[in-house]
Amino acid sequence: MVINGHTRTCGLIGNPVEHTMSPLIHNTLARMLSHNLVYVPFHVEEGKLQDAVKGACGLNILGLNVTVPYKSQVMRELAQIDPLAAKIGAVNTLVRCENGFKGYNTDMPGLYRAMCSENIQIEGQEVILLGAGGAARAVAFLCASKNVKKVYLLNRSVEKARAVASEVNEKCNTDCILPMQLSDYRQLPDGKFLAIQATSVGLYPDIDRVVIEDDAFYEKIHTGYDLIYKPSDTRFMQLVRSHKGRAYHGLKMLLYQGIIAYELWNGVSVSEEMAMQVYEILKQEMDIKD
Ligand code: NAP
Repeated sequence: MVINGHTRTCGLIGNPVEHTMSPLIHNTLARMLSHNLVYVPFHVEEGKLQDAVKGACGLNILGLNVTVPYKSQVMRELAQIDPLAAKIGAVNTLVRCENGFKGYNTDMPGLYRAMCSENIQIEGQEVILLGAGGAARAVAFLCASKNVKKVYLLNRSVEKARAVASEVNEKCNTDCILPMQLSDYRQLPDGKFLAIQATSVGLYPDIDRVVIEDDAFYEKIHTGYDLIYKPSDTRFMQLVRSHKGRAYHGLKMLLYQGIIAYELWNGVSVSEEMAMQVYEILKQEMDIKD
């Protein structure tokens, strides 16, 4: 690519950022769409978030992604917040606006687009959601906004599960989210469920770990979606498949949250064909064969 006087800059702020796949997504899109744009990671030290956002504004940076640990904190630094991001309470994308940046959440619509692309239906489903951290909150909001029948939200710390459930139920005017202690999974009703794995258990390098081991649990799952993409075949996915369920990793969620951010920054619409080309490049880089 040619960097010249017209090149626009986008980037990622977080800590750490060294492991990120986002530059590959955005720089590939820029190349494919012949946009004069470069995307770089910015490691932001604790206590420097305000400086980083102000500096980015002063430097006329086109857009930023935000990752751990700043997705909630960054909201204090913004000129505007999109209503969906305000409701979820987390921002992962900043877009230039008058007087600063406007914050969006593209994780939730990214997961939805990823699920649609795998033909996973969420509407009307009974869902088991494992975890109550930042990612699980976005999943709980997605479920509530897509009229699921019920979400059994299981977490090791049950008080966190309760807090997420009551917040999402209240903000979405529903009672579909039911908090449960993780170890009480045997109390789940009979039936077959869509299970979304949103804990960090099984994440590289602890790839042999899984949040629930019991075969009886996996008998209940018709489709398992693990938000983890490294490794791309988690123990959770293996257990789902060994009980005849369909299993997916989270790389497409990562892809689509990036694509939606890119669309917001550049006012374009990325075709499915192009999305799949970027996906193939991501898979190649991560040595994923499926
Ligand atoms: P987080 O806020 O730190 O939450 C971690 C969750 O995992 C909590 O619910 C925690 O339970 C649970 N957990 C951790 N260790 C556990 C253990 N030993 N046993 C049982 N539960 C345990 O993390 P996050 O940001 O939500 O991320 C969760 C996962 O989603 C990560 O693996 C991340 O890589 C993945 N993710 C993927 C994408 C994507 O684009 N594909 C996007 C975001 C996140 P407690 O509350 O009891 O501690």
